[in-house]
Amino acid sequence: MTRQTITHEDGAIYEFHPTLEPIATVESGAKLTIETRDSLDGAVQSESDRMDSVPEEVNAATGPIAVEGAKPGDVLCVEIESVRVAEPHGRVVTIDGFGLLDGHEGIDSPRTRMTPIEGEETDEPYLTFEGCEIPVEPVIGTIGVAPKSDPYTTLVPHDHGGNLDTTDITGGNTVYFPVFQEGAMLAMGDSKAAMADGEMCGTGAEIATDIDVTVEVIEDPAIELERPLIRTDDAWKTVASAETLEKACQIANRDLIELLSAEHSFDFTDAYMFSSLVGGLEISQVVDPLVTVRNAVPKAYLSSPF
Ligand code: CA
Repeated sequence: MTRQTITHEDGAIYEFHPTLEPIATVESGAKLTIETRDSLDGAVQSESDRMDSVPEEVNAATGPIAVEGAKPGDVLCVEIESVRVAEPHGRVVTIDGFGLLDGHEGIDSPRTRMTPIEGEETDEPYLTFEGCEIPVEPVIGTIGVAPKSDPYTTLVPHDHGGNLDTTDITGGNTVYFPVFQEGAMLAMGDSKAAMADGEMCGTGAEIATDIDVTVEVIEDPAIELERPLIRTDDAWKTVASAETLEKACQIANRDLIELLSAEHSFDFTDAYMFSSLVGGLEISQVVDPLVTVRNAVPKAYLSSPF
């Protein structure tokens, strides 16, 4: 199957709304290249370009893309084959009113650091930050589908996905989303050339990317998926966003318990205890309007829930 290119110039959203008009409609099984612009819409091109406040529109997500046949109750499987940086530098910024240590002593905002990409002709490209080299490991910051009832701007992560800022959402991994609306309405953007778990200063190395994915509808899944779920080489990871880390951890753990109890025929308490042996809470980000965590379980203890 030929790979279809869909670019942000065709359309991008700043809000995941229950009612969205697609810019493209594709078949289940379609292979796509999705071109995304950087999360700040190109506003920062040098260190003298600073962000005085979080823009009203941020994290442009290329799409929405309707997937034929996807209907509420289905699962949309997004296999991420690769994420490639598409400009010669990323940028890291601090913004007033944003970030884990916003307003703390010694933390200066707004500040911009450009992160040039080097070694692109090699297998090991890296970005540089003030003379330090960091491997390029691109991450998709914002990815999701049309939500069930309430709209969410692309700054907010929730059950539909959105601004998840999760390092595992990268090439080689697969993300599963609940389908809430006909066609699912997939959109993505806000990529980083590199980002740490937590995204402490509020951004990664924000950058435009070309993303290769295969999208597939799973009809009548064996479980009712309520939130995004990630498959990596060696683990399944539930993903939850909430007002506090504790609340997000509780949701991510309950979701994992559901999966473990279905797999092993454990009751809920045994699955809870088992999760305490084999799971592992991980922080995605602590800076967006809701924070995001994941709970990982090795594939040895969990096969595909679908
Ligand atoms: Ca983000």
